[in-house]
Amino acid sequence: MRAAVLTEVNESLEIMDLETDKPRANEVLIRTATAGVCHSDLHFQEGKYPCECPTVLGHEASGVVEAVGSDVNYVAPGDHVITCVSMSCGDCRQCFRGNPHLCAHEGLVRAPGDTPRLSRKGDRIHQFNDLSCYAEQMLVHEKAIVKITEDLPLDKAALLGCSVVTGVGAVQRTAKVGPGDTIAVVGCGGIGLNAIQGARIAGAERVIAVDRLSDKLELSRVFGATDTVDASEVDAVGTILELTRGGVDHAIEAVGLKQTAEQCFNMLGVGGTATVIGMIPIGTTIELQGVALLAERKIQGSVMGSTRFRIDMPMYANLYLQGRLKLDELVSRTLRLDEINEGFEALRRGDVARSIINF
Ligand SMILES: [Zn+2]
Ligand SMILES: [Zn+2]
Repeated sequence: MRAAVLTEVNESLEIMDLETDKPRANEVLIRTATAGVCHSDLHFQEGKYPCECPTVLGHEASGVVEAVGSDVNYVAPGDHVITCVSMSCGDCRQCFRGNPHLCAHEGLVRAPGDTPRLSRKGDRIHQFNDLSCYAEQMLVHEKAIVKITEDLPLDKAALLGCSVVTGVGAVQRTAKVGPGDTIAVVGCGGIGLNAIQGARIAGAERVIAVDRLSDKLELSRVFGATDTVDASEVDAVGTILELTRGGVDHAIEAVGLKQTAEQCFNMLGVGGTATVIGMIPIGTTIELQGVALLAERKIQGSVMGSTRFRIDMPMYANLYLQGRLKLDELVSRTLRLDEINEGFEALRRGDVARSIINF
């Protein structure tokens, strides 16, 4: 099967023929339908976060089950599925505490010395996030997938697995934004637009989109932004403090920079919470004014939207089919696998919401 391989950090991806192992008892072989090109993949490709090479990146995908291991009852060949990074074992402390997105995945991956799921001429190809979606086939643990209705087109379904769950989930599950809240979303790419629609669906009164590109701000209105702030023209913090007469209840960071994380904290009103989704490069510290904590301002991280993905993904699918969750407007480019480097280039330029690869 063909896959886009990252042989070394900072190199372009190369299309190669790889071998996939047979599914073991709890594993599922999936024929990939669509994979999204996510900013997180770019962080690993650029070496801002460590990953073992050679590897196949990609963690947001949909597909059709091709074969299942002997103990798999959850899905059968022909079922439509979405993959999810935040697989959960159901047995560990975090799973029992109700935080399945924080599960350590023990027992869900093959041991380092074991036969690899992916290889090339007998040599190991590292599986990225235990998924590796930029490939015609994915061999994953059954806990890494969720079954979805066939009414949902597979190219739209892929987006639920990272950009939707991360953005909508951060707002609704991590930050618990509710009716009447005021929220600012800093960064209007694939994740930020989903944070914006998450706030709209949650009933937020005022949803302020912040970006440096005017076309992204225009698109943010489609997703539910009530106000837009062009950070290339004005000071975002000062403008928002003025617009809201003292600051927002929630600020969502969807860029992954020190500066924007600090801005999110600084635009909070009394009792407000900043939620950082963006992947701030390893080694970077963020600085806050200690006195601001006296008014119960908070800052927190969010990973995969604190998802319980086998509950959340079918719900998002229904919200889309009801016309309440927007997916069509998220896709700005559709590529073939051999055009994947163009998708990464577009991310670097920052000019698209989401590129998807259709297999
Ligand atoms: Zn992602
Ligand atoms: Zn667990």
